[in-house]
This record gives sequence, structure tokens and C-alpha cells, in this order.
Amino acid sequence: MNLDLTPEQDAFRLEARTWLAENVPVSPLPSMDSEAGFRAHREWEATLHAGGWSVVSWPAEYGGRDAGLIEWVLFEEEYYLSGAPTRVSQNGISLLAPILFEYGTPEQHARYLPHMTDGSLIWAQAWSEPGAGSDLASIRSTATRDNARGGWLLNGQKTWSSRAVWADRGFGLFRSDPSASRHAGLTYFLFPLDAEGITVRPITQIDGDTGFAEIYFDDVFVPDSDVLGAPGDGWRVAMSTAGNERGLSLRAPGRFLAASARLTELFRERGTVGTRTADDVVDAWIGAQAYRLFTWGTVSRMLDGESVGAEGSMNKVFWSELDRDIQATGLRMLGAEGELRGSGAVDGGRWVDDYLFSLAGPIYAGTNEIQRNIIAERILGLPRDGKKA
Ligand SMILES: Cc1cc2nc3c(=O)[nH]c(=O)nc-3n(C[C@H](O)[C@H](O)[C@H](O)COP(=O)(O)OP(=O)(O)OC[C@H]3O[C@@H](n4cnc5c(N)ncnc54)[C@H](O)[C@@H]3O)c2cc1C
Repeated sequence: MNLDLTPEQDAFRLEARTWLAENVPVSPLPSMDSEAGFRAHREWEATLHAGGWSVVSWPAEYGGRDAGLIEWVLFEEEYYLSGAPTRVSQNGISLLAPILFEYGTPEQHARYLPHMTDGSLIWAQAWSEPGAGSDLASIRSTATRDNARGGWLLNGQKTWSSRAVWADRGFGLFRSDPSASRHAGLTYFLFPLDAEGITVRPITQIDGDTGFAEIYFDDVFVPDSDVLGAPGDGWRVAMSTAGNERGLSLRAPGRFLAASARLTELFRERGTVGTRTADDVVDAWIGAQAYRLFTWGTVSRMLDGESVGAEGSMNKVFWSELDRDIQATGLRMLGAEGELRGSGAVDGGRWVDDYLFSLAGPIYAGTNEIQRNIIAERILGLPRDGKKA
């Protein structure tokens, strides 16, 4: 693996750095899980798009720069180091778009992709149900054929859908053939969140924000043109999303490089609190660098034509634990002051906000217990969960 950048890649990095320095909002935006924050983050997406930085690795016809994976990683590093806002479009651009490119029809591409890049169409992931999180194949929400209207009727309930309260559309799996086995007979649908028959109920999060939601479906009509992939093939389509989410696209190393840099800065200002702080700061820095190098390795392999397999689960466990450790160390350094939020707080209260969010890391995108099972079975070759050797 060659870590030297070409002159073009150096120039790309510099161009991104310069644009971000000129355009990133001076004051942090309110949380995107609050109504005002969601709006402000949507506006930021439009600014990014206008600058041509919304989706650097996408084809130019959909608002991208035709850039490669390496440029994408470079951009992410610059993005987070600049203190830019988190991406409220991430469900669309990171989770849905890769499978839309792979399984969507040309008509779906034209209808959806351009609007994901400027914040005008923000998506919610509607996978989890009250009885189906880790065991996603046990979903019960149904899709029934409506031949007269050329589409399907959705019924049931989804839960834990991030930002569904303010998002425009959702994507999720429904059981379209009740007689088929668990993984068969599922179909992947795209639907507007304000469709007739949909009720979105906010769930209050640990930090008091209410962007999280339950979604209820009561005979919601979805036309055939909003089925993604073939009817009955939803499991395969959905699993490509899961691979992307855990493997590479959801959490680029830039996020943790920036967090470990802020932690180091805080340590320089505050010094050691207790005996372990210096070690923890060093561990955080090493962890972020290790994740960066591992990602460069993954990118190299992908450029050689390989895909991200079960090692995506290793990434997921690693970044989620690294994030929690970084935020916890920052909070410990701040002591009681770290509990303050709002304008008088250090970094506007970012340490406590980011700590609370980091607690969710080992849960969303597939819990770490499940990821460890995948690592044990598919990478280490240990016996399947629940089965004797
Ligand atoms: C911040 C956040 C955002 C989220 N956003 C979304 C979203 O936008 N859209 C969406 O659809 N969902 C979302 N989720 C839901 C998330 O995907 C689920 O919470 C997750 O898949 C776990 O499912 P569950 O909550 O049903 O827990 P369960 O599956 O009931 O698991 C409970 C516990 O049992 C463990 N467990 C279960 N099975 C096994 C096993 N076989 N071996 C070992 N341990 C096991 C789990 O690891 C977990 O610790 C989000 C969750 C969080 C926290």
C-alpha cells in the first residue's frame, strides 16, 4: 500500500481545506435532532452542494466530482478537521444512494439522486421494528399487492427511525410474501413520510431531543415505481446497505482524527486529571491513527477490486468503542464543568453532547454483540452462535 498522495490528490485536499475554511459556519449549528437544528443542517447541505462538496465521489451528472475513494477519505478528513456540521443527509447519501446506484432503475436514479445532494430530500431509515432489531429478518410489517392501482399497501410499525420526525421520505423492508421463509418474501420500499396512512410519533432521546421516531403504517399505498430491486429480493438489497453502513461509509476516520485532535488540545489546556488521563489521550490518538491506517488498507483493497466483507464488523466495533473512549476522556478532564450545555459551556457543551451520542454507537448500525458474532464466525471460523462445536 502506497500512502504517498499524487500532486492532484494534494491539490484536491488543499482545495477542500480552503473552501471549508471559508464556508464552515463560525458557530456550531444546533443539534440536527432538534427542529431548528434539522433546518439549519438542511441549509448547510445546500451550501455544500453549491460549493460542489456534497458528494465528491458521485458521478458529475448527479452533483458529484467523479472523484475516487482516496479523494473521498481525504475530503472526510478535511471536513471533520474543519469543524463542519454532521451530515443530516447521511441516511440518503451514505446508506440509500449506494444501493440505489446498484439496484435502482434509471428513472429512480433521476428522480431521487440529485435531490439527495442539496438537502431538498432527506431520508429516514425505517428498518427496525419493536420485535426486529438485531434479528431484522423477523420483521412483521406487511406489503400487500394492490393490482388495481399498480402498487402495494403497507401496514405495520417501524421504530428507532433517526430524524424521521422531520425527514421527507423513508426506506425500509416489508414482508410481501407471508408464506415464504424468513429471508425470502421481503421487499424494499421507498415512501414519502407524509403519505396518507402514515403516522410519525417522536421518541425523546437521552439528551432531550425528539428527532427519533416510531412510524405507523395504515394501508399506505406505494406504487411499483417505488419498489427498490425486485419484489421478494429485499433482504439481499438491504444487506448491501448494512455492509456499506458498517464497512466504510458511515464513519470515515476523519471524524475520530478530529475528535482525538480536540482531545489532545483539551489535554494541553487542562493537563492531567487523575492518573490515567495522559495514557487515555495517547490511546485515543493512537486509536484514531490506527483506524485511519486500517481504512486506507480497506480503500486500497477496494481499489484492487475487493469488497468490504465481514471486516466491516471489525470497523464498526472499533470506531464505536473509540468514539465512546474519546468522549469519556474529554468529559473526565472537564469534571463537573463538562456537564454544562449551551453558550457558556466549553465548546458549547459539545463534549457532553458527543458523549451521550457515543453511547448509541455500540447499538445502531447493528449492535456490537452481533458484530462480534460475525467476527467470530466469519473471520475466526468459530462455531455458529448457539451451536456446539
Ligand atoms: C442512535 C440510534 C439510531 C438508530 N437509528 C435507526 C434508524 O435510523 N433506523 C432504524 O431502522 N433503526 C435505527 N436504530 C435501531 C438499531 O438499529 C437497533 O436498536 C439495533 O439494531 C438493535 O436492535 P434492538 O434495539 O431491537 O435490540 P435487540 O435486537 O432486542 O437486542 C437487545 C440486546 O441483545 C443483544 N443480542 C440480540 N441478539 C443477540 C445474539 N444473537 N447474540 C448476542 N447478543 C444478542 C443485542 O446485541 C443487544 O445488546 C437506531 C438505534 C440507535 C441507538
